[in-house]
Amino acid sequence: MTQTSTARLMDGTGPARRIVERSAARAAWISRETGTPPCLATVLVGDDPASVTYVRMKRARCEKAGIASRHVGLPATTTTAELVDAVTALSRDPGVHGILLQHPAGPHIDERAAFEAIAPHKDVDGLTLHSFAAKSFGLPGFASCTPGGIMRLLAEYDVELTGRHAVVVGRSAILGRPVGMMLLAGDATVTYCHSRTADLASIVRQADILVAAVGRPRFIRGEDVKPGAVVIDAGYNPGNVGDVDFETARTRASLITPVPGGVGPMTIAVLLEQTVDAAARQLGLDPGAGVG
Ligand code: NAP
Repeated sequence: MTQTSTARLMDGTGPARRIVERSAARAAWISRETGTPPCLATVLVGDDPASVTYVRMKRARCEKAGIASRHVGLPATTTTAELVDAVTALSRDPGVHGILLQHPAGPHIDERAAFEAIAPHKDVDGLTLHSFAAKSFGLPGFASCTPGGIMRLLAEYDVELTGRHAVVVGRSAILGRPVGMMLLAGDATVTYCHSRTADLASIVRQADILVAAVGRPRFIRGEDVKPGAVVIDAGYNPGNVGDVDFETARTRASLITPVPGGVGPMTIAVLLEQTVDAAARQLGLDPGAGVG
């Protein structure tokens, strides 16, 4: 029997392109007004191939948008104290407007200590406790980029949050936990699931809005998607496979993100936008001005 696909795709490429174009226009305006382009510092410990690729890609996207970047590459033997010193120096450097510490920094590193060395006004990747708290309370601040991108995507597709049951599968510091708090700040009723959750499928079945942030290919079965649910698949597994079984889930969902082309492009767009915002503020410009 052939199944009819019913879900509308939540394309992230179009909204992300618009955010990047606007960020590039604002970066050019900042350069014109101040003679200084926005500058993102990237910090990488070790030479893990995936991390090297991510950092290279982020720097290339910055360059294309007129955002300067400065790279600090540290050996895998770097200690927490040395990493904290390097990040602290960037926090104090007026030529750097945003700091991105690539995660994971290594098993021997106290990552929380390293992230906390990022000055809150330069935390454009949104990973400090300050940023987490600000976004949790619905206050101005920098979002962790993937959760920020998810919230933008939900807004782009006019998804009502108020009173709806959002189920977030995953509770990592960079993704599951902050996106749940942002949904809560948007007046959704939020349930978190994780590796110790009992009867996860029965909770998933109650989700009006389902966010999958697990890191396991096709972990969420289509048959557990509530009819009409909005499905956000943040997972990105080898072979371009998400955390949701897309083909079966799309027959029940009303809206669903594709993998790739859904959440992924929004993440980098939010990073560029937040870097430009940080630079505008630090250079004394009105962050809301510059581009119509
Ligand atoms: P992570 O740090 O490994 O966290 C995974 C979460 O999933 C944890 O909270 C874990 O629970 C939970 N989990 C693992 N196995 C589970 C199970 N059997 N049942 C229920 N929960 C389970 O991963 P992450 O960094 O959040 O990333 C998650 C996914 O998103 C990955 O595929 C990653 O590639 C993708 N991602 C995409 C982007 C993007 O830009 N598109 C950005 C970041 C991450 P516990 O807490 O109990 O261990």
